[in-house]
Amino acid sequence: MLDPFGRSISYLRISVTDRCDFRCVYCMSEHMEFLPRADLLTLEELERVSLAFVGMGVKRLRITGGEPLVRKDVMRLFERLGSHVGAGLEEVTLTTNGSQLGKYAGALFAAGVRRVNVSLDTRDPDLFRRITRWGDLPKVLAGIDAAVAAGLKIKINTVALRGVNDAEIPSLMRWAHGNGFDFTLIETMPMGETGGDRVEHYLPLSQVRAKLARDFTLIDSTHRTGGPARYCEVAETGGRIGFITPLTHNFCESCNRVRLTCTGTLFMCLGQDDSADLRQVLRATDDDAVLQNAIHAAIARKPKGHDFVIDRRHAAPAVKRHMSLTGG
Ligand code: SAM
Ligand code: SF4
Repeated sequence: MLDPFGRSISYLRISVTDRCDFRCVYCMSEHMEFLPRADLLTLEELERVSLAFVGMGVKRLRITGGEPLVRKDVMRLFERLGSHVGAGLEEVTLTTNGSQLGKYAGALFAAGVRRVNVSLDTRDPDLFRRITRWGDLPKVLAGIDAAVAAGLKIKINTVALRGVNDAEIPSLMRWAHGNGFDFTLIETMPMGETGGDRVEHYLPLSQVRAKLARDFTLIDSTHRTGGPARYCEVAETGGRIGFITPLTHNFCESCNRVRLTCTGTLFMCLGQDDSADLRQVLRATDDDAVLQNAIHAAIARKPKGHDFVIDRRHAAPAVKRHMSLTGG
């Protein structure tokens, strides 16, 4: 499946719910309104559309949200999709806040999941509560332990927030690497109203990197995971650090992915509004050829790149929808 710029689309991110048991300040407002359940794709629809993509050449599926593990019966979806790993599909992965990993880590591994991204912005319990509003750090850390015990490989994703967790980044990295986890930093992206001021906390990763380079030897790495992160090896820890910099650096030229929201809307670019309504197609016909035609037509409109900018005067989101709808 090639887009108009010759990029092969091999990666689909699927948001299975817009709901979440946290309210991270950069992601949602505290009184977030969620979609009516009838608007969401059913698990059967999620499976059908995912497999249509796999049939067209998608090799990797990442399940995200909202918090994917709060969706009722989501393990059934992992089991169904996991049964295709090795048969056209290379992997099914998950991005989670970790709150439910204690409960589900074993079942995820049994379903065929091998890698999990856990979002963790701090290891300070009070700061964790302030950032996530509703989160409980010990529960997340216990979830990470359960994931390790189940055999899942872990990557820690941390959003770098000026004046919030920036001072802790070196110790978070040491902790992640000390446990054998990859560690990736993310810049805040201007998506959705949160009731807060993102500009104040926006921290370019070029600055973080420069600061880290004072204490650590960062060696550029050719390592790629099929995502937009650029990696360095850290000589002192023996671990790897990734930088996802949608605003300071353009990562679009090698973009291999599209994103499906929990309502079946396909976004060809995280930072653009053009989309295709696959739910309507899913509900109009059982014919997968029609569904695949709709997917092809959408991919043919994949734009060359995003144009995120932090609007410093108005602090307005560049993209109105929340990350929790499209999936991070
Ligand atoms: N709830 C799960 C989690 O937190 O990992 C999955 C969904 S969450 C939307 C996926 C990722 O997006 C998380 O790593 C989160 O930190 C990140 N994220 C959310 N809003 C963001 C924003 N405005 N800018 C940058 N990253 C954001
Ligand atoms: Fe929930 Fe993830 Fe958004 Fe935090 S970043 S509010 S955990 S969806």
